Amino acid sequence: MQKLQNYINGDLIAPKAQQYLDNYEPATGEVYSLIPDSDSEDVQLAVDAAKAAFPTWSNTPLEERMLIMMRIADGIEKRMDEFVAAESKDNGKPLKLARAVDIPRAVSNFRFYASALQHFASESHAMPGVGINYTLRQAIGVVGCISPWNLPIYLFSWKIAPALAMGNTVVAKPSEVTPYTAYLLSEVCIEAGLPKGVLNIVHGLGGKVGQAIVEHPEIKAISFTGGTETGKRIAATAAPMFKKLSLELGGKNPTVVFADCDFEETVKQVVTASFANQGEICLCGSRIFIERPLYDKFKEAFVERVKALKVGDPNDADSNLGAVVSKQHKEKILSYIQLAKEEGGTVLCGGVETQDFASDNLNTRCKNGYFIQPTVIEGLHYNCRTNQEEIFGPVVTLTPFDTEEEVLMMANSVKYGLASSVWTNDLKRAHRVAEKIEAGIVWINCWLLRDLRTPFGGVKASGVGREGGWEALRFFTEAKNVCIKQ
Ligand code: NDP
Repeated sequence: MQKLQNYINGDLIAPKAQQYLDNYEPATGEVYSLIPDSDSEDVQLAVDAAKAAFPTWSNTPLEERMLIMMRIADGIEKRMDEFVAAESKDNGKPLKLARAVDIPRAVSNFRFYASALQHFASESHAMPGVGINYTLRQAIGVVGCISPWNLPIYLFSWKIAPALAMGNTVVAKPSEVTPYTAYLLSEVCIEAGLPKGVLNIVHGLGGKVGQAIVEHPEIKAISFTGGTETGKRIAATAAPMFKKLSLELGGKNPTVVFADCDFEETVKQVVTASFANQGEICLCGSRIFIERPLYDKFKEAFVERVKALKVGDPNDADSNLGAVVSKQHKEKILSYIQLAKEEGGTVLCGGVETQDFASDNLNTRCKNGYFIQPTVIEGLHYNCRTNQEEIFGPVVTLTPFDTEEEVLMMANSVKYGLASSVWTNDLKRAHRVAEKIEAGIVWINCWLLRDLRTPFGGVKASGVGREGGWEALRFFTEAKNVCIKQ
């Protein structure tokens, strides 16, 4: 069985303790590779390598840095098929989704930040007749990047690329649940000629490797994407060490549908916004609020479309949903469906794992996989646990509303504030609601439309700091003001 390796100081190496973890394919429930069960000693090696590489990398001419990062992007693109297969096998998502979204986006992340580094400018402030200030934005040093399992290489590269672009050296940890594309990335970095130690990838468990990265005194900044509880722990560890922190955390995103929306298009898009990647995108809308006059019509059309979604083998071209990421996660999602019933909800469709319904392709290769039907629930109070806690799976609730004020109150009632979408043809209302909704992103009549130059991140328990565009480039620098008297 293939053993993945850590990427430290430019080499692919085994963990010092020679321990490995099983890597499962969620679609089959079978182990298909082994990943390093690294520990703090491996993190120390990575930090040593990153520290040694920093002086040269941070002083490498911008054009050279850009060319290396462009070669990394080209390398991923050239090995597209391998990356697509690895992403789907590790995560359970349909191959076609990995091909359409995840891997092209990883390529774009490297290209975007490779070109951005050449155009990055810092501020200058004149004090007329007195002096001038300019802001030097210098690389921080060794930084830590920790990412989750839902969009493995997409989010991993979203952190690593801006960190490298600004001249930092990186110690990174992908989710232990989905390590394969990060491993392929290490091969690509070697092929692209990334100097030794500039990027180090240490595989293993969050509580061991992740914790060791966060605790390490020589890692000066942490960019983390993952759950809110983990984010809290990271903040508690890093804050007394005065580390720079960017935390992108959980969500419980509202989808707000007004009666004047473009009906067909809205239903279609809201289905995608609910169930793309099995609902395992932090930006998926999981609470759908529908203006009462449209409620019954919307519900009928929505449920009909959801029932037509095919849950299937990720390798099948016609599968709309694949497997959820792990057995443990499947059980968590099913427990929330049970909770929704106990809280008085009515399951309009789905609500079961695949073992409970007939599907030819799932009864063969995938008979032990972790599949859940897309599930739509109505009749719940906006304040119940099902509507307040993050489920992070193919489960949505439908709730009617009467007024703008009421829907804003319900939308903002959760502790999270990551993303939202609003569906209406009333321009004034769209702006009004966008201003009042507590979320880092408001999509109007669209979902997941991303311009990489815009700030990305959440408010409330969905995180602090912003990624994306100049925000990420600034995050990965220390700002120093230089004041010159005239
Ligand atoms: P986790 O918080 O469990 O894990 C995220 C990463 O942190 C993993 O690499 C994990 O390792 C690691 N980790 C776990 N414990 C620690 C620790 N004590 N110290 C340092 N690192 C640690 O999240 P999931 O992987 O389960 O991802 C799902 C969550 O991510 C959801 O809540 C989702 O909303 C959120 N998310 C947020 C996004 C955003 O942009 N705001 C985008 C995508 C997802 P390991 O896997 O080995 O446990």
